[in-house]
Amino acid sequence: MNAPARSPLMALDDALTQLLAGVAPLADTERVPTSLADGRVLADSLTSALHVPPQDNSSMDGYALRCAEVPAAGAVLPVSQRIAAGHAAEPLQPGTCARIFTGAPLPLGADAVVMQEDVAALDDGRVRINAMPQAGQWIRRAGEDVARGAVVLCKGQRLGPAQLGLAAGIGCADLSVVRRPRVALLSTGDELVMPGDVPPEAMRPGAIYNSNRFFLKALLQRLGCEVSDLGIVPDRRDATTEALRTAAEGHDLILTSGGVSVGEEDHIKPAVQALGGLDLWQIAMKPGKPFAHGHIRVDGQDRRCHFIGLPGNPVSSFVTFVLLVRPFVLQLQGCVPPPWRPLQLPAHFSVARADKRREFLRVRRNAIGGLDLFPNQSSGVLTSAAWADGLVDNPAGTTIAHGDLVSYLPLADWL
Ligand code: AMP
Ligand code: MG
Repeated sequence: MNAPARSPLMALDDALTQLLAGVAPLADTERVPTSLADGRVLADSLTSALHVPPQDNSSMDGYALRCAEVPAAGAVLPVSQRIAAGHAAEPLQPGTCARIFTGAPLPLGADAVVMQEDVAALDDGRVRINAMPQAGQWIRRAGEDVARGAVVLCKGQRLGPAQLGLAAGIGCADLSVVRRPRVALLSTGDELVMPGDVPPEAMRPGAIYNSNRFFLKALLQRLGCEVSDLGIVPDRRDATTEALRTAAEGHDLILTSGGVSVGEEDHIKPAVQALGGLDLWQIAMKPGKPFAHGHIRVDGQDRRCHFIGLPGNPVSSFVTFVLLVRPFVLQLQGCVPPPWRPLQLPAHFSVARADKRREFLRVRRNAIGGLDLFPNQSSGVLTSAAWADGLVDNPAGTTIAHGDLVSYLPLADWL
């Protein structure tokens, strides 16, 4: 008799496509002060009501003049006004120049600024222009940064420090953003102990500290989520069902770690199936094979809460988060996840044994432009993720020789 067929492994790209196909962006928006909008996703495009800069201005401390009045180096001009940043300028009197400072508006009629290093002040108050000016030099033009009516930031864009500055620069004191996704975080496993609850010397045999909870919470918060840390769920079917049912209330997503293999102590699958629906995938990636995705019906409401179950091994949990959960959470906020931008860098290591699965190796850039490999690539060794600054995306069945160019994905792009 044939052995029962094993379900084939799913390609990571297919898993991501399927995962994202089931996410509709949250409809609720809120207005937040621009100073508090870091990491949020813009709900409406921003159009500028003014030119930035508003008028032509000087990009140097120096003298504003008409080029035609300086036919050669050495011309001498009287100074007819002094213009500091934030103060209005008079039209430039013919045959004179204006003392001007960086950011000050250019007087009408001037067509260049000569930097003060190229000007000598004479005893009689006039100045000698020692360098022939070129029309337009050291002038920042009105609207050269942003033109009135231009769309400066688009709906769905994630805001970082530069975007906040740009929004403020067109006068926005507050911004309309998508509300924060509410995420319930659960850790499964009878072996888990919270740091602080038991000191290291008093840990019972078999116990480990719950580390996933800490990096998952930080990863979620960095993506703008409001995280409810609902603690540790013991490895029992009833406890798991109850924890999930409660977590579904008031949350958009439940994220769990552990318990998604199909061992006797893995209760996530039957519990989610009983409360809603679940797909359990074996993804052809290393680390991080088991991955569960589904939904839980919310009692008494016509609403479903998304469910994602990550593997328990810390590195698997970490890597599946950045590769799958991160784009999911971004899309939930109406942000199109940006495509990966791998760099081709030389491996300063080798991988002699090809793996059947696509591997994401924990590596670090070295000082001579290559990549070093963390020596222990086990999915339980979280030191590898803390040490690494990137992942090498190594296709299934591929060995790596020292010096080969490999695809390096900087972790900084995702954190
Ligand atoms: P599981 O997916 O539940 O079979 O767990 C796989 C491995 O990951 C086991 O060695 C667990 O002890 C470990 N593990 C599960 N959850 C956590 C956690 N929250 N922190 C650290 N290790 C964990
Ligand atoms: Mg477990």
